[in-house]
Amino acid sequence: ILNSYITQPELNQNEITSLSSSIRDIILGLRASPLSNDTGDIKAIEVTLQGMSLLLDSTYYGWKTDRTLSMLHEDEEDLANLIFSISRDIKRLIESRDQQIKDREDEVSKSIQELRVVMVLFSIIGLTFTFAGLILLRRILRKRFKVLHSATLALQQGDLNSRVKLNTGDDFARLANSFNNMAESLQQNKQQLDLINKDLENTVAERTVALTDTVIHLKSEFSARETAEQELEKIAFFDPVTGLPNRTLFRERFTVEINDCARTDEMLALCYIDLDKFKDVNDSLGHSVGDQLLRQVARRIETVTQRKTDLIARMGGDEFVVVFSGCKENGAYIHIIEELIAKLAEEFKVGDSTVFVGASVGIAVCPTDGEDYETLVRHADLAMYRAKENGRSTYQFYEAALNDSFVKRIDMEKALRGAIDTEAFEVFY
Ligand code: GH3
Ligand code: MG
Repeated sequence: ILNSYITQPELNQNEITSLSSSIRDIILGLRASPLSNDTGDIKAIEVTLQGMSLLLDSTYYGWKTDRTLSMLHEDEEDLANLIFSISRDIKRLIESRDQQIKDREDEVSKSIQELRVVMVLFSIIGLTFTFAGLILLRRILRKRFKVLHSATLALQQGDLNSRVKLNTGDDFARLANSFNNMAESLQQNKQQLDLINKDLENTVAERTVALTDTVIHLKSEFSARETAEQELEKIAFFDPVTGLPNRTLFRERFTVEINDCARTDEMLALCYIDLDKFKDVNDSLGHSVGDQLLRQVARRIETVTQRKTDLIARMGGDEFVVVFSGCKENGAYIHIIEELIAKLAEEFKVGDSTVFVGASVGIAVCPTDGEDYETLVRHADLAMYRAKENGRSTYQFYEAALNDSFVKRIDMEKALRGAIDTEAFEVFY
């Protein structure tokens, strides 16, 4: 701009205004520049430029005051030279400043580069130390965890003496301490528990012995009671001499058979057996031999009737009963009765003695001769008496006529007793 002013001094008003404005901008630029504080040169340039601006303004407005004129050289050419030299200085100065700025920038860039290298270096070193620290820390932690883990494992497997020794003074040491306290407490509890268990075992053992004794005692009592009950049942239902069912048990069982018979078409035969002249055995050989004979008679009846009847009983004295059930026709069992009479007529060996008895049998058939226990027994008994009258060692079926003769006999007995009472008998010799 200055050059153009110098080479073309004839400026119009617009050019002068523009030039003046540019000079002000330069001044403002110089003030804002970072170089403005550096040297007095800037100030000198600024003053010169202000002078130039003033000159230009004066030229434009057409007034040339004394103050203005005093600031200017006489000769315009000199002024142009001055301005030219100033502009050259300014150029040089600007170039020198540019170079300085460039140098500064290079320096700063170099420093930044160096700083980067240093930072990278520091980062690498830092990271290396961090990794190394972490590895070390991991090793230390693993070692302490291992100690804690093995102690816990030992405790879990029942080793109550398991303790952890860690004198590190950190959280691990506190953890180890807590573990040791816990193990100690467990050990004490276990010891107490062992004592309680031992006491309990002793008590259980004592109680078991007592219980065993009680059980043995109870068992023997139970067994004695059972035996007694069996004995009682035997006494109540069985004949003590022959071991056969007695009259009571016979009544019970025979009643069942009668009821079964009533439900079917089959017949039931009750055979009433009375030994012949048994009293003579008692009288001649004694009651004991009589008992032995009764036992042998019972076994012989069982042998003959084996599997053909399940009901044999001793009614008392020398009387026995045998029941044949499930008979399709009357008399199907007669051959057994005949065999029985024959067998009982054979000799009996009682001790050193040989004894002979016989048996008379009366038979009553259900349902023809009766349909209840009382009737059937009474009728069989009557028939047996008839067999006796018929010469003994024989059998007799019940007949209604037997009943009549029995009634006649009872009447005769009554009449004879009455005759005694009224002294109606007369003795002839
Ligand atoms: P009968 O031919 O008329 O039958 O004559 P008997 O001698 O057999 O006389 P009866 O049947 O009337 O008498 C049975 C006897 O059996 C009467 C009694 O002394 C005897 N007696 C009764 N019970 C027992 C007993 O348990 N043991 C013994 N040894 N004898 C008994
Ligand atoms: Mg008899």
